[in-house]
This record gives sequence, C-alpha cells and structure tokens, in this order.
Amino acid sequence: MSTLEKDIPQEKDAPRGGVPMVRARGVRKKFGHLEVLKGVDLDVDPGEVVVILGPSGSGKSTFLRCVNHLETIDGGSVHVDGELIGFSASGGKVRHLRKRDVTRQRREIGMVFQQFNLFPHLTVLQNVIEAPTGVRREPRAQARERARELLAKVGLADKADGYPRQLSGGQQQRVAIARALAMRPKLMLFDEPTSALDPELVGDVLETMKTLAEEGLTMIVVTHEIGFAREVADRVVFMDGGVVVESGRPADVLDNPSNERTKAFLSKVL
Ligand code: ADP
Ligand code: MG
Repeated sequence: MSTLEKDIPQEKDAPRGGVPMVRARGVRKKFGHLEVLKGVDLDVDPGEVVVILGPSGSGKSTFLRCVNHLETIDGGSVHVDGELIGFSASGGKVRHLRKRDVTRQRREIGMVFQQFNLFPHLTVLQNVIEAPTGVRREPRAQARERARELLAKVGLADKADGYPRQLSGGQQQRVAIARALAMRPKLMLFDEPTSALDPELVGDVLETMKTLAEEGLTMIVVTHEIGFAREVADRVVFMDGGVVVESGRPADVLDNPSNERTKAFLSKVL
C-alpha cells in the first residue's frame, strides 16, 4: 500500500473476492463556484458494461473525465483496478499522484469522445499505431499487425490506407475505437460516441461496441441510445444534478424507474 493510499478510509462495502474495475466514492468536482459533481458513487466490476443516462449538464462527461485523469477531483476518491486515481484527504486538501503514475494509468484507460479527433494527415493505420509505437514503444511490425486485426474487428479492414476525410463519420468513430483498443486498455470510457453521427451511421458503431462488450471488455458508456442500454448494458445508471440518482438492471431502471427525475427524463427520450 502506498503512503497515499493508506490515508484512504477502507471501504466496508467493497466486493469480496474481487477488486472492482472502478470504484468511485463521494466524487466532487467544482468549476469555480459551480459544483458539478456532488458526491458520485459508482462501482463497475471487471467485464461489466455500465450505461450512464442523464440530462445534459448533469455531470456525465465530467465524471468520465475524472476517471481518466482529464480532470482532478475536489473530494472523494476514484480507484481503477484497485489503484488510486484521485482523492481528497480529510480537511479537503487534495493530493495528487506522481506524474509517471498518472501517465501509466491513463494508458490503461481508453476513451472515445463524441468528436473522433483522428489525425487528419495520417492514414487510418497510422492513426491506430501512433500511440502503441510512440507511447508504448511497441515494435512497428507488431503494432501494424495488431492494428490490422483491430480494423478488421471494427469492420474497416479495407480502409487501413485511407485517410480520415475519406471516411464517413461512423467509420471515423470506429477507427477511433480501434485506436483506443490498440493501447490494450483494461477499461473503456465512451462519451456519447454516436451523438455526432447521422442516424443511419449510428448502428454500425453501436454494433462494434456490442461486440466489445460481448468479449468481456469493461465499459462505461454515456449515451442516449436507450436500445443499446437495454440490450447491452449490465447496469443502467441515471445521473442528475451531479449525483447518481438511480442504478439497476436495464429493465428495472428503464421500464420501472423508482425515481421521479428518472421517470421525467425517460418520458422525454423514450
Ligand atoms: P453532461 O456531460 O452530463 O452534459 P458535463 O459534465 O459536460 O455534463 O457538464 C456539467 C456542468 O459542468 C455543466 O453545467 C457544464 O457547463 C459545466 N462544465 C463542464 N466542464 C466545465 C469546465 N471545464 N469549466 C466550467 N464549467 C464546466
Ligand atoms: Mg456530456
């Protein structure tokens, strides 16, 4: 146990016999005076697919960004695979991890955004091998071979030598997924991956994500795609006002929500 970790209160309700992939406790985040996360609690087990639903501005993206070190937190704690990502000690003083630990942890968490952000001047294959050969120093030949496998998995084997601008939005997003997978993440975070796509392109991206889920990848997916939540998620979490309001099996949360805010939200999107 590191010196940082021993300051963390031990959780009595941690699952026995297995370390959760994500354990968030009381996560708080402020931007200036605006408190965006007001104590988020969430556990995600290895291999679990959790869909986060919630109205715009409820803090979904901010929460994902806290899990991935894109934001520091102002309170609470986040562990990924048993390792501390961020926490605040008693007295509200925030402490941070060493930079090289942060860098290593971030490599192990893949993230896919609404905007695909591919490198426009690189081919599809070059986009996918960029991080493994650069950051992970994988041999080029090995990275290329794996990139081709990943492109086949996302249904784009024939696009390896094309450029992003030659692809549809849905294809670009699938390249972005392959690029994230190339780092062999143990956790994948998806932040509204289909929200920027034309409706007819959404299905292929969701299908790709479903395949990953079936292969046992641990995923947190922020999406408004209720069909995906119903079919693929192990658990649906509803966030509102910076907290988790409701969490449960998809059928329970979607068809029989117990919270009024969940009901109101679902009545608008269903
Ligand atoms: P969601 O993803 O659920 O729509 P966000 O996490 O993006 O919500 O945002 C929650 C709130 O935090 C919003 O009010 C948003 O304007 C605010 N917010 C997010 N990022 C920042 C930032 N970098 N600076 C200031 N306010 C922010
Ligand atoms: Mg968002």
